[in-house]
Amino acid sequence: MNPKSNHILAALSESMFQRLLPKLGLVSLTKNQVLYEEGGGQQGVYFPINATLALQNHGADDFINDVALVGHHSMTMAGKCCSLVSFDRTIVRLPGLAYRMGIEEFVATVREDAPTLMQLHELTQHRMKQMAKNIACASHHSAEQRIARLLLELMDLTSLHDIDLTHQEVADSIGVRRESVSIHLKELEREQAIEIHRGKICELDHHRIHHHSCGCYQGLETNTPKTPHCWPCIDPQLI
Ligand SMILES: [Zn+2]
Repeated sequence: MNPKSNHILAALSESMFQRLLPKLGLVSLTKNQVLYEEGGGQQGVYFPINATLALQNHGADDFINDVALVGHHSMTMAGKCCSLVSFDRTIVRLPGLAYRMGIEEFVATVREDAPTLMQLHELTQHRMKQMAKNIACASHHSAEQRIARLLLELMDLTSLHDIDLTHQEVADSIGVRRESVSIHLKELEREQAIEIHRGKICELDHHRIHHHSCGCYQGLETNTPKTPHCWPCIDPQLI
């Protein structure tokens, strides 16, 4: 498996990539596996290949939902090191492979490299814009629109047309009630936009799903910086 299937690793300078390469290990991640939460998990810096990770924060009443999704176009630090900022929890939303390395050795490797730190700065800004957009989406757009957007984004991230996700997991991801998810998925199924088969949500008509989504969905390419794509959740001022 080529580590450069991950866009972040592919966008690094060759010298930085060669320094990180011996420290990277390929791991197989299972659905809903907890990579980090306070006091536990498989902490590390993750560069997904075909897994999709969900970065989560607690809200009021201990409510928790996804604030960002991370796939092959991106990476994340699941855990804490020194005073680096981390999300409350990182889980595997969809299973697959990822490259992983220790947080401390990652920080020690990149902290003296000015071009990489500049990349970190740009990528952190991009992630913050994405998160602000997601918050606005949650406030202004309907559950139906957000469910359709989630399906499109997960299909983009995995390059799959069928997503192994339960109604409850869709509800957990976007922070709505499971009953609402079931109603809207049934509507999409009635319109033959999707089909639910053996627990998988299968795309039948991309344009019909898109028709139900809000304008926040713009596709993976336009949601991703050209170079070097996305480098979330690390504040370079703290490195
Ligand atoms: Zn929206």
